[in-house]
Amino acid sequence: MSDHYDAIVIGTGQAGPALAVRLAKAGRRTAIIERKRIGGTCVNNGCIPTKTLIASARAAHVARTAAAWGVVVPPGVDVDMRAVKARKDGVVRQSNEGVTNWLKGTAGVTLIYAHARFEGPHAVRAGDALLEAPQIFVNVGGRANVPPLAGIDQVPHLDNVSMMEVDTLPRHLVIVGGSYIGLEFAQMYRRFGSDVTVVEMEPRLIGREDPEVCAAIKDILEAEGITIRLNAKCVAVRRDGDRIVVGVDCEQEPREIAATHLLLATGRRPNTDDLGCDRAGIALDKRGYIVVDDALRTNVDGIFALGDVNGRGAFTHTSYNDYEIVAANVLDGESRRVTDRIPTYALFIDPPLGRAGITEREARETGRKVLAATMQMTRVGRAKERGETAGFMKVLVDAETKRILGAALLGIEGDEVIHSLLDVMYADKPYTTIE
Ligand SMILES: Cc1cc2nc3c(=O)[nH]c(=O)nc-3n(C[C@H](O)[C@H](O)[C@H](O)COP(=O)(O)OP(=O)(O)OC[C@H]3O[C@@H](n4cnc5c(N)ncnc54)[C@H](O)[C@@H]3O)c2cc1C
Repeated sequence: MSDHYDAIVIGTGQAGPALAVRLAKAGRRTAIIERKRIGGTCVNNGCIPTKTLIASARAAHVARTAAAWGVVVPPGVDVDMRAVKARKDGVVRQSNEGVTNWLKGTAGVTLIYAHARFEGPHAVRAGDALLEAPQIFVNVGGRANVPPLAGIDQVPHLDNVSMMEVDTLPRHLVIVGGSYIGLEFAQMYRRFGSDVTVVEMEPRLIGREDPEVCAAIKDILEAEGITIRLNAKCVAVRRDGDRIVVGVDCEQEPREIAATHLLLATGRRPNTDDLGCDRAGIALDKRGYIVVDDALRTNVDGIFALGDVNGRGAFTHTSYNDYEIVAANVLDGESRRVTDRIPTYALFIDPPLGRAGITEREARETGRKVLAATMQMTRVGRAKERGETAGFMKVLVDAETKRILGAALLGIEGDEVIHSLLDVMYADKPYTTIE
């Protein structure tokens, strides 16, 4: 016996809940299935908790450096990690409950707590139940990738999920992976009071950004006392009593670092290995991501993939935008496409990096004539007044069309200011509109 629905949504990440509600409101009987916590990564162990922790870390940093603004704070600022975690848990709980109540309170949505697995192109097993629907929407997201480091199965290590349970201060946190997630944790824990070492195998941090952006970010983090080991080609781990020894370099001393905690921040992998995609005939790429077309349709009629699992975005807003695209096409007869989306994201260190469009390297690779303008934050009045002048802003323009191709704003409020450029890009207006 199977239960028939008009639509099944697998996963309650950033796209699934909104889509389930939209489908139900359009009169389609919809089941939504979640195996862990409602709200997925962003709500429970991604954006929301990390940004909450970053806020606590910034408060500690401002208190410690308050003298620079003429504010007297007695020496010895302490961070109560249990209180920090409790505050984070409170914010997460509110968000988690908000999504849960939204789903439960929407007529036409059936919320099922189970691991979902395809049994065929239109059939999904969820615990004891077998569900069938003509349309299935996959929003299963991803999880932390554990790299095959020598010795990794012998030492305790943390990822973005287990980090959320930490309520004590690591004496020395080593973070393997110097990209977006690793760097946010690095500055956060340095500001909480830990010694922090970032180990990166590549010659630069966040290698996909332009070199001067990477260099400026490295300077900002090192200025706060974070140790950064680049070109770490001999990464291996072992236990030495209660210490974790991380081998970082084959030649350069020190070749090993002894730490108390190890965080792996070496990328993400899609949650498709236990989804039964083969039974439905859903095509995956080499890395396990679901292959989709410009309208997020898989190769199987009636099955769509949204969010991180389709490899077309790795952010909360890209997943939500996937929902908007699919809902518009499926319910409103529109023909929206993913390629109409301009890449945009932020790195939430302090000061943040706001990014839109392509990098200078990518712009030059297109072969067009590119105008690039850079302004140091030391020349920005607001930054001077706040005494926070680290970073710079760079904007790239197509010399012929005068369209903005991309921007990197590394500086105070860069994550918000980027939208003023993004709006011009979406409006397809020349940069002179806001000159
Ligand atoms: C530490 C960290 C910080 C981040 N910070 C930011 C940020 O500041 N800004 C930003 O834009 N993005 C950030 N991200 C990325 C962001 O969290 C994701 O891009 C976002 O959550 C979108 O994910 P999703 O919708 O694809 O699915 P997810 O949020 O990953 O949710 C997928 C859900 O599907 C469930 N699931 C999986 N398999 C099954 C199955 N077989 N059956 C049933 N349920 C299943 C999972 O349990 C999960 O709840 C961060 C990520 C991390 C890890």
